[in-house]
Amino acid sequence: MARQESLDDRPAQYVKGVGPARAAQLARLGIRSVADLLLAVPRRYEDRSNLLTIRQLTPGHDATVQVRVLEVSLRRIQRGRSLVESRMGDDTGTVTCVWFNQPYRAQQLRVGEELILYGHLEAGRRMQMVHPEIEWVDAASDGEPGESALHMGRLVPIYPLTEGLSQRWFRGVVHTVLNRYGASAVDLLPEDLRRRRQLAPLAEALRQIHFPESWEALAQAQHRLAFEELFLLQLRLALRRARMTSRRKPRRYQLEGPLTEHFFRRLPFALTPSQRQALDEMMVDLRAPAPMLRLLQGDVGSGKTVVAAALMAVAVQSGYQAVLMAPTELLAEQHARVLRGYFEPVGVPVALLSQGPGPTDRARLRQRIAAGTVGVVVGTHALLERAVAFKNLALVVIDEQHKFGVAQRRTLATKSQTPDVLVMTATPIPRTLALSVYGDLAYSVLRELPPGRVPIRTLLYEDSDRPEVYRLIREELRRGRQGYVVYPLVEPSRQELRAATQMAKTLQAQVFPEFRVELLHGQMRPKQKDAVMRGFLERQIHLLVSTVIVEVGLDVPNATVMLIEHPERFGLAQLHQLRGRIGRGAEQGLCLVISGTTDELARQRLSAFGSTTDGFRLAEADLELRGPGELLGRQQHGWLRFRVASLVRDREVLEAARQEAFALVEQDPQLSRPDAAALRNRVVRSSAV
Ligand code: ADP
Ligand code: MG
Repeated sequence: MARQESLDDRPAQYVKGVGPARAAQLARLGIRSVADLLLAVPRRYEDRSNLLTIRQLTPGHDATVQVRVLEVSLRRIQRGRSLVESRMGDDTGTVTCVWFNQPYRAQQLRVGEELILYGHLEAGRRMQMVHPEIEWVDAASDGEPGESALHMGRLVPIYPLTEGLSQRWFRGVVHTVLNRYGASAVDLLPEDLRRRRQLAPLAEALRQIHFPESWEALAQAQHRLAFEELFLLQLRLALRRARMTSRRKPRRYQLEGPLTEHFFRRLPFALTPSQRQALDEMMVDLRAPAPMLRLLQGDVGSGKTVVAAALMAVAVQSGYQAVLMAPTELLAEQHARVLRGYFEPVGVPVALLSQGPGPTDRARLRQRIAAGTVGVVVGTHALLERAVAFKNLALVVIDEQHKFGVAQRRTLATKSQTPDVLVMTATPIPRTLALSVYGDLAYSVLRELPPGRVPIRTLLYEDSDRPEVYRLIREELRRGRQGYVVYPLVEPSRQELRAATQMAKTLQAQVFPEFRVELLHGQMRPKQKDAVMRGFLERQIHLLVSTVIVEVGLDVPNATVMLIEHPERFGLAQLHQLRGRIGRGAEQGLCLVISGTTDELARQRLSAFGSTTDGFRLAEADLELRGPGELLGRQQHGWLRFRVASLVRDREVLEAARQEAFALVEQDPQLSRPDAAALRNRVVRSSAV
């Protein structure tokens, strides 16, 4: 069958009015083909259907006016800086435009020329705009007849262009392409779906996204194109999920038995309702013929570990091995300690495989794992090494999954035949993001914290408040509590490490001489780290000055106070993770934050951080402020960059697209119905994503 595409991929260069030089400029914007031109979504729109006169403008608002250039002047102001000032006017008044350090504006603007001016009219009495956008009305039009109708008297698109490309020229090119190729663009969406969801045909949506007839028509076009993007994403996930669940695993579990019975009997607390429900959901997965592939999401401190441990008990009592992988040595050690507490009293050995032990010990451990004499294995990335093999691995648990890449998840899974996989994350991912990134996984959530927790108090300070901050920390330590001072090393440089080291010294010598202060950072040797961590757990160390490695997973309920230095270097989700290290017992946690930042965005983030301890709300805010890449951390999420869709704005669209995609795959897993041909080609072609 001929390859069918939704849009045309012939080079943009051959479009009338483009040519090689312009094509090179377009390429810098990532526009290479006709399809790219059609999908070059405007950055904003200007309503030029009823232009106001200068007299009608309101100071303090954005405005578009048509004006004539009256005067232009260029002045040098101090130290090589320049100022271009231009007075412009219409029949009703004048407005002054200024540009700093753009001396070329003085050449660009000619007295007598007509312009469209868009900018913010400053509040106050002077009619002034700083750095407005301008568009020449009489610019030579190299487009088609009637083209001036594209630029005036309507909603006009403004594109994200670089210097050297004019809005008018680009509009003309897009218009040409729309006329020539727009109508033949193949619609990916099956017609019944389009009708059911009231989505415009593709050709119509493309026309309206560039040259909308009205704001409503524009909104519909955006909706349609966003739906398509999200639908394609969800369709890929649905197909992947279908592939997963059509597989069969070669094992049967014994869900109840002496080990699980013992496990629950010895548990010092009752499971929360969400923990119980998550476990029930996982038991159904284990019993099913297809392998489990499930995400357990829960805010920091919600108690994910015990859920994983219960599942591991099931695997072991059924005669299989289970493995738990964590992103840091510290966390792996903590998990090993907790799991030993659960399992060793009943004679199930727990092995910790990390960088810690020497090579010979590691080799011996690996032998025991390969021989199947250890049922429960905990480790770090060290587990991924080739040399690590299991006798009969059934269950793979990955903690703090967002710290690992998909490839690592897969590598661990290859150490078994179709294992059951549970991934856990404490990043409270907003639902839209979860549906996009983990949309092929089944999904359990821990909605509540274990009972008795008191919400952490967060107080924001400036550098001059140090004495007060130290006083608050001292109060906690005197009560027998412990604390963290977090000193962020985003990319640990020698210099920053020195700063953290210095901080620890100063705190010990000058601020808290009566307590023991120790430093913990990622570049310490495992043995040293272990010693410090043990000292902290055994309460011999009172204050732990630490780099960001305490971020994930650590559980020391006696630690009740935390000071975060340079919080502006972190995203909200990360700050929340950090703060989650305290307030893990019944005591009130106190989080102190010292920041001298003047950056507006950073201050917004901090004030959000100070005002709520709800991780999900913070994650939503992070998504809005910084976008999905930052929130998800390590992994590359380039494929979450959409042209039209927004994970913040289009929540409902995403839900609808997901429903449709999963329903389609359920009815037609091969996408073999005739009207899904274009869809099949597209999704199969790019299934590498
Ligand atoms: P996270 O979800 O952040 O990984 P953990 O599994 O480390 O949380 O659990 C945090 C703390 O809460 C641990 O000390 C754990 O023993 C305790 N915990 C877990 N579940 C419960 C529960 N149902 N009731 C009381 N405490 C619990
Ligand atoms: Mg955890």
